[in-house]
Amino acid sequence: RLASASDTKLLLATYFGGLGDNLGTALALPVDGLHLDLVRAPELLRQVLPHLGNRVLSAGVVDGRNIWRTDLDRATFQLADVAAQLGERLWLAPSCSLQHVPVDLDLETTLDDELKSWLSFATQKLDELSWLGASLSGDLDERSACALQAQRDALAARKSSCRIHSADVARAVTQSEKLTRQRNAPFAERIKRQQDTLRLPAFPTTTIGSFPQTREVRALRRELKRGALDDAGYRARIRDEIALCIRKQETLGLDVLVHGEAERNDMVEYFGELLEGFAFTSHGWVQSYGSRCVKPPIIFGDVSRPAPMTVDWTVYAQSLTDKPVKGMLTGPVTILQWSFVRDDQPRANTCEQIALALRDEVSDLEQAGIRVIQIDEPALREGLPLRRSDWEGYLAWAVSCFRLATVAVEDGTQIHTHMCYAEFNDIIEAIADMDADVITIETSRSNMELLQAFEQFQYPNDIGPGVYDIHSPNVPDANWMVALMRKAAERLPAERLWVNPDCGLKTRGWPETEAALAAMVDAAHTLRAQY
Ligand code: GLN
Ligand code: ZN
Repeated sequence: RLASASDTKLLLATYFGGLGDNLGTALALPVDGLHLDLVRAPELLRQVLPHLGNRVLSAGVVDGRNIWRTDLDRATFQLADVAAQLGERLWLAPSCSLQHVPVDLDLETTLDDELKSWLSFATQKLDELSWLGASLSGDLDERSACALQAQRDALAARKSSCRIHSADVARAVTQSEKLTRQRNAPFAERIKRQQDTLRLPAFPTTTIGSFPQTREVRALRRELKRGALDDAGYRARIRDEIALCIRKQETLGLDVLVHGEAERNDMVEYFGELLEGFAFTSHGWVQSYGSRCVKPPIIFGDVSRPAPMTVDWTVYAQSLTDKPVKGMLTGPVTILQWSFVRDDQPRANTCEQIALALRDEVSDLEQAGIRVIQIDEPALREGLPLRRSDWEGYLAWAVSCFRLATVAVEDGTQIHTHMCYAEFNDIIEAIADMDADVITIETSRSNMELLQAFEQFQYPNDIGPGVYDIHSPNVPDANWMVALMRKAAERLPAERLWVNPDCGLKTRGWPETEAALAAMVDAAHTLRAQY
């Protein structure tokens, strides 16, 4: 219909992978050109060329989803014959829209020159395309030739840079094959041991980790950066904030407390800043969803943990209360998923390195006496490949990394995980396979509909279906939360249910948070009386 409606020439743009069994359809369409993602699916070139006819081929050879410089020699080699064959009908393009990468590397003044020489943002990617064009047509002027040579040198240097490869990490990864990815005892036994030490009531109450990040808390970080506050001063103020959070949670009567995450600017950036192998931009903003933007860290090298990252804060929080304080970590898959990831090894390998670092953090927390540890994986689902046939492979390594990070604890140590923004039905088996003792999920906005998955599959472990929509300033009342929990209890055994909000509270203010949590604790009391 589009083709017959006008004389305008049509270019069918496909990206984020190969065409698979849609290849025939794409080739049969009455369009004047085809754009192919040759970064993710180089094999498309061979598949499409014989059937191209007199159409234009737009070759997406510069990665639009990542921030690394393109190997233009390889691209030249890949396209040389095609260029000769197609002449003007060969177009050069990024693999996809450039909205997924930051605008201009030249804005970055704090990144060191070596790292910078490996990177290419949207503006640089356009340069790469023009150099590639010149290189293919054989009319490189002196400046482009020089730029190409510089790029070639930078890529060669990147390959052998000792900033990327750590022998210790390589050794740890090799040895990790021998590490167990299985908790010692099955859940039914573990939960008894955990109950012995935690002594929680039925329908235990908890929160997902963060408490309001007030203007004052965010100002502390700015002052630290500016030098207006020294490290000791900053730490003292964060401790005050943690103490405040603990006091408020005790007053509210919550059962499993958190330290509140006041020290975290962002749940991925915080860990990235404390791990080796990560770099941060000053202006590398990209759209995440709607009008929201994020500044993803860059994972450029082997990941390792020079020192504990959360133990001091958590132990301090635990020292202030007799209630259990939940240690709070961001999971390996979510850290991977919300970063720009190195392209010189499979994503699964990078994820494994992050998991090993987190495994040490989990052990350190346990050694320090923390009995409950949550590892957030809100991005697990969004990492799913587009094609269903690739799901199994992804889920296998994603779950395996989560387990690598979490299973090395004693039976009596309770592992939580948290997920939000997700439908769970089609990945419920993988979620169960993660074998967390407790999972908290976002369910309040769907009126508990999302719980269906956990019911039909007979999810085996404890579960906290969210009863407080933290995206809204609305304060739900206790009756509303009781009604939601009763709905959940129709589907799942009441003795396995927790009472908690949908997600972290960092975007909320204190008054509404306290009112909502007070109602939540009331709701739990009512439920304990009713069941
Ligand atoms: N622990 C994090 C928090 O409470 C979890 C955030 C998330 O799931 N996106 O903020
Ligand atoms: Zn969440």
